Amino acid sequence: MIFIAYGGILVDIFCARGIEAARANGGICMRGRRGLRLITALIVAVFAAAAGYGVSVLNGGSDGMSVHFIDVGQADAALVACEGHYMMIDGGNAADSDTVYSYLRKNGVDSLDAVICTHAHEDHVGGLSGALAFARTSAAYCSVTEGDSKAFDSFVAALDAQGIGITVPEPGDSFMLGSAEVEFLGPVEEYDDANNSSLVVKVSYGQTSFLFTGDAEYESETDILEAGFDVSADVLKVGHHGSDSSTSYRWLRAVDADYAVISVGKDNSYGHPSSEVLDRLADADVQVYRTDLQGDIVFASDGSELTVDTSAGEALKPTQRAALFGRFYVFMHSGRDVCPAFFLLGV
Ligand SMILES: [Zn+2]
Repeated sequence: MIFIAYGGILVDIFCARGIEAARANGGICMRGRRGLRLITALIVAVFAAAAGYGVSVLNGGSDGMSVHFIDVGQADAALVACEGHYMMIDGGNAADSDTVYSYLRKNGVDSLDAVICTHAHEDHVGGLSGALAFARTSAAYCSVTEGDSKAFDSFVAALDAQGIGITVPEPGDSFMLGSAEVEFLGPVEEYDDANNSSLVVKVSYGQTSFLFTGDAEYESETDILEAGFDVSADVLKVGHHGSDSSTSYRWLRAVDADYAVISVGKDNSYGHPSSEVLDRLADADVQVYRTDLQGDIVFASDGSELTVDTSAGEALKPTQRAALFGRFYVFMHSGRDVCPAFFLLGV
């Protein structure tokens, strides 16, 4: 029996409708069964503890894909699992090494197909050493091969110990993770700025897709769009922890996401996420999830539908503006490459 930590999934295993029914319904925010979900989660947790079972990765087994945005505070860390294949994209700060190590350990992920470090800043590379302390990897990708921080040096040393070098991918390069395609879309230019140098990665599984942006800012976003890459995705990992320097209207228009994840620390000193970015996401009618409010955020895909579960709290509704005004606002800030009437009507 597979035990899964997330209450929303637990209830679907044990209730009559089953997880497939939940997926068929979109599976998001199953509010009406919160009481049953809690009771079931408690029962299963007791059994799981008694049996000494760990927590399994959603869909990490024979089929499906799951994407785990791990709560590492003011930093980024994600685990992608597809058909028994695994990949980390960033690992949080060095202080998050224990969190990442534990996340992999409790899910039994001791072998990674790839580790992607979007850029050399500590809040992305720091905890990858923790991942590599538990799991072996077959490949490593980063925007650079050398850094100027102890955190990056530790990452390189951990890879060295496994005999793995860092590959700097070209835009358009791709590889398979199970049946999921992992494609590098950026950066398409060289930048002095480390944030803009972030690897931008699209993970596609069936008809569903995720866009990981590291800390890429306007400059990189614009260059990727002008290079003609297809950035459209169902789920956008918002760039640079929700900083106002990223996530332009034009970017949002092109990505056209239904969901966004902001990986951000509670009461952080940067004021992330910025109210401007939250407003833009609301204008674009994107449903927002935040690690500071909802802890670990896990999306599961069966190739056509997405379900999402969080470890703390339910999904946020986008800040509501009048829908028509929001669409008009996005249109005015977009590339205006569509018929306005169609765009405003959402066609
Ligand atoms: Zn960052």
